[in-house]
Amino acid sequence: MLPFKPDFHCHTTLSDGSLTPKELIERAVQFEVTHLAITDHDSTKGYEQAVPFAEKTNVELISGTEISCQWQKHTIHIVGLQMDIANQQLQAGLEQNCQIRIERAQAIDEKAKPRFGSLLEKIKPKLKEGMIGRNHFAQELIAQGIVSDQNQAFNKYLKQGRSLYAPVVWPELTEVVKWIVEAGGIAVIAHPHIYKMTKNKLNKMIEEFKQAGGKGIEVVCQPRVCSDQIGMADRAKRHGLYASLGSDFHRPEHTWRGLGWLATMPEGVDPIWNYLKQTKGLIR
Ligand code: AMP
Ligand code: MN
Ligand code: MN
Ligand code: MN
Repeated sequence: MLPFKPDFHCHTTLSDGSLTPKELIERAVQFEVTHLAITDHDSTKGYEQAVPFAEKTNVELISGTEISCQWQKHTIHIVGLQMDIANQQLQAGLEQNCQIRIERAQAIDEKAKPRFGSLLEKIKPKLKEGMIGRNHFAQELIAQGIVSDQNQAFNKYLKQGRSLYAPVVWPELTEVVKWIVEAGGIAVIAHPHIYKMTKNKLNKMIEEFKQAGGKGIEVVCQPRVCSDQIGMADRAKRHGLYASLGSDFHRPEHTWRGLGWLATMPEGVDPIWNYLKQTKGLIR
């Protein structure tokens, strides 16, 4: 049997990743990932479509999604794992977020049209049934040679304060945690180091997240141990949260991020796989 190598955060073409669910499972096999959650933005379709492919392999797949929400003017991403994806409240919530995404994409496109023509018309044929996000605009700006990479696309045009940014109001954090919990899942704060918050504010957000039923926080998000990871491990312990891990893999060209390429879980935390095994989410 392969050594335990989990990754509980990644994307496919059903959101803003570049690999199809089938290709993602093939990559998991290639890189010997043993336990995987596909967490497409505001959708469980990536997971659903990967199930038949994962069944033919030794990759153990659990259900996942990454939901956008609002906490005090901040956009926060909450990963949901091991949910009953047939849950109606969850699917209605995800549908609502996808609708917000469509409206925002139209608003971005109106801003883009005078300078670049419609970007959305070029993006649409590539989407199929996937949700739309700012990353699709980033990829289109790259394809048209307007920017050289994704970072530049965000820094020049797509991030808050730039010319193609369209404001959006996501559902409240507590509401989103409720969708996940009531669907039988575990809610996890995604990449907590990226939110531009003071330590006190982050602690306050974590407390509200816990009160709403949230139980996990991503501690390991990178291949190497870094100060963010040490800080988050400490937070997980202090707040009594399960420590999760995920690469946030989007596309093979991003060579600094690989599926399953993650530092070892630090000592002293309660790893999320303990929870997943207790609740029979993971069987191996
Ligand atoms: P959205 O949920 O559509 O607003 O897009 C969020 C996604 O855009 C994230 O999951 C990242 O993939 C990407 N993203 C957000 N901010 C940046 C940034 N500053 N540089 C590069 N990519 C980013
Ligand atoms: Mn993304
Ligand atoms: Mn995210
Ligand atoms: Mn992500």
